Formats: sequence, C-alpha cells, structure tokens
Amino acid sequence: MPAVLPFLELPATLRREMWAHAQAEAPRECVGVLGGQLQAGGGQAQVYLPLPNVAARPQVEYQADPAALLRALRAFRAGALELCGIFHSHPQGPQTPSAADRAGAGYDVPYLIADLRAGTLRAFVLPGGDEVALLPASGLLPWRT
Ligand SMILES: [Zn+2]
Repeated sequence: MPAVLPFLELPATLRREMWAHAQAEAPRECVGVLGGQLQAGGGQAQVYLPLPNVAARPQVEYQADPAALLRALRAFRAGALELCGIFHSHPQGPQTPSAADRAGAGYDVPYLIADLRAGTLRAFVLPGGDEVALLPASGLLPWRT
C-alpha cells in the first residue's frame, strides 16, 4: 500500500451516500469506510460502508465501533477490495482535521471529512495533513466495471 495517495476517485453515488449518512447523523459526527482498489498512482473507491460512531462525545469526535469496523474490513477482503478511505463528518466544521483526528489516525489511507456547515468534502493524509485530490470516477481505470 502506498504511503501517500495523490488522488482518490470517488463516484458520485458514493458521495451521495456519504452526505446522506452525515446529514442523518447530525448533529453527531458520522463515520464510515470506503473500499475499493489501490495502485501506486492513487485509488478508486467502489463501496461505502457506514459504521456506528461510539465516541464518548459524538458531537465533536468519532470512533468507529471496533467490531463493525472489523466486519467491514473482512467484507472488503472477501470482495477483493482494499480499505481506501476513512470518512467522518464535522457537523459544525471545520473543513480540516482536528487535533484529535490527527492523533487518532492509524491507517495509510486518505481521511475524508465532510464539513456540513461549509458543504465541503476534502481528504487528507494523516497525521501529516497533506491534501488528497478527490476526483470524479473517470471510468478509465482497468478495474472499473
Ligand atoms: Zn474530525
């Protein structure tokens, strides 16, 4: 798995699912994972799985339910998909990762953040904070069906 993904292709259908999840959970933060394909140049998300947020203060932080996360990762593996993004929402902003987001980041995949107040969806490599470009699905990558 590459340490940094310069871009992540995110189909419009998945964007809609993620926004719907974020809006349904507000004012709590939502959390979910993206499965798809990775290669050296970037990744392509193909499925979004929402997860329960079990954080103690879900209005300002998130923690995916560990058992649900494990099930999601197993489902990805069973479907020959890789974890290629972790999504959560900031119902009151900001667009960028919080200190807790940076401290809690443990995966070498983009961390996607929806800011419901600003209406933005951005992705970052954490804990460093480099931004990852989110692109519409091109349909050009070989695994695209
Ligand atoms: Zn956050």
